[in-house]
Amino acid sequence: MNFELDEDIQFLKRNVRDFIQNEVEKVAMQIEEENEIPGRIVEMSKELGLFGLSIPEEYGGLGIGMVGKCALYEEIGATHNGYTTLIGAHTGIGTIGIVDMGNEQQKKKYLPDMAAGHRIGAFALTEPAAGSNATNLKTTAVKKGNKYILNGTKHYITNATEADIFTVMAVTDPSKGAKGITSFIVEKDFPGFHVGAFEPKMGLRGSHSAEIILEDCEVPTENVLSEEGQGYVNALKILANGRAGLAARNLGSSQKLLDLSVNYAKERIQFNVPIIEHQAVAHMLSEMAVDIEALRSFTYRVAWMVDERKKIIKEAAMLKLFGSEVYNRVADKAVQVHGGIGYISDYPIERFYRDARITRIYEGTSEIQKNIIAGQLNKEYS
Ligand SMILES: Cc1cc2nc3c(=O)[nH]c(=O)nc-3n(C[C@H](O)[C@H](O)[C@H](O)COP(=O)(O)OP(=O)(O)OC[C@H]3O[C@@H](n4cnc5c(N)ncnc54)[C@H](O)[C@@H]3O)c2cc1C
Repeated sequence: MNFELDEDIQFLKRNVRDFIQNEVEKVAMQIEEENEIPGRIVEMSKELGLFGLSIPEEYGGLGIGMVGKCALYEEIGATHNGYTTLIGAHTGIGTIGIVDMGNEQQKKKYLPDMAAGHRIGAFALTEPAAGSNATNLKTTAVKKGNKYILNGTKHYITNATEADIFTVMAVTDPSKGAKGITSFIVEKDFPGFHVGAFEPKMGLRGSHSAEIILEDCEVPTENVLSEEGQGYVNALKILANGRAGLAARNLGSSQKLLDLSVNYAKERIQFNVPIIEHQAVAHMLSEMAVDIEALRSFTYRVAWMVDERKKIIKEAAMLKLFGSEVYNRVADKAVQVHGGIGYISDYPIERFYRDARITRIYEGTSEIQKNIIAGQLNKEYS
C-alpha cells in the first residue's frame, strides 16, 4: 500500500492550498453573511480545474485517481464548508454517476462541460417519503415512445439552484421494488423540470438546498443511466464511491480546527500560563490529533482500495461513519478549547461546529452506515 503522492499531485495540492488560504478563506465571513459563494471564487475554481476533479482527462477533467483526489479534497475541506459542498457535491455525487455508469455518448455529451464548470452537477434521490429508505421512491417514470415522463418531488437537493445536470432516480416498475428503480440524466431545461422551494438550514451557508419538482418532465430514452432497473444499485454505488472524498473533506475541516485550536491554546493566557499548559486543554488537543491521524490513514487506505478496484462496501460505510463522527468530535472540542469565543459568530469555530452536524446525516446517516457494516459482517461470518 503506497500513499505517496506523485509530483503532479503534490504540485496541484500546493496550488489548491494557496488558493484556499489566499482567496477562499478571505471571503469565508462574506459567504456566511451573504449565503452566496462569490462568482470570482467560482471562476477561479474553474481555472484551477476543481470542477473536473473526478472526470477523466479525455473528457477534460484532471484525470487523477482517488488517492490524488483525496489529497485535493483535504485542502478544499479546510475552509468554509458551503464552498466545500459546492465543489464536493458537483465532483462527488453530481458527477460520479455519469463517469462510472454513463455510456460513451453520455460521457462525451456531458462531462467536458461539467469538467470545465460550465454545467454543474447534482444528485436527486431523496424524497419526502424516501430518506434512509430510498426504495420507497414515489417519483415515477413512464416510457412513452422515445421519452420517459417523470412525475414527483425530490427534496434537500444540494446545488439544486446552481445545477444544470441532475442524476435522478425514479420508479419505472412499481411491482419490482428496488429493482424497479431507474436512474436518469435530467437537464434543468427539459420540459416539466422545476426547482421548487429553497430550504434554509442550520449551516452550510452558500450551499443551496431546494426541492426539485418533476411535472410530466420529458427525458429522452438515451438519458437512462446504465439500464432500466439499475437505478437503486447505481445510487448505492454513487454514494459508496463518494465516501472517500467526503471523508477527505471532513479530514480537511478537522485539521483546520486543530490548527486553529492549538494556535489559540498557545496564545490564550489564563491563570498566568497559556491554556495549552493546562492538562485538560492539552488532552483535548491530543485527542483531536489522534482522531485526525486515524481518519487520515483510513481515508487514504479506502482511497487506495478504490484505485485498486477492490470491493469497498463495508470500508466505505465505516469511513463515512468514522469521518463524520471524528469531524463532529473535533468540532465540539474546538469550541471547548476556545471557550466563549468558540461560540461567537465573529470567529470561524462555531460555523464549523454547525457545518459538521450535517455530515452525520447526508449521504446516508450514521445509523444507516452501521446497518451496512453489520450487514456485511453478518455475511462475512456466515
Ligand atoms: C443539507 C442536506 C443536503 C442534502 N443533499 C442531498 C442531495 O444532494 N441529494 C439527495 O438525494 N439527498 C440529499 N439530502 C438528503 C439526505 O441524504 C437525507 O436527509 C438522509 O439520507 C436522511 O434521510 P431523512 O432526512 O429522510 O431521514 P430519515 O430517513 O427519516 O431518518 C430519521 C432518523 O431515523 C434513523 N433511521 C431511519 N431508518 C433507520 C434504520 N433502518 N435503522 C436505524 N435508524 C434509522 C436515521 O438514521 C435518522 O436518525 C440532503 C440532506 C440535507 C439535510
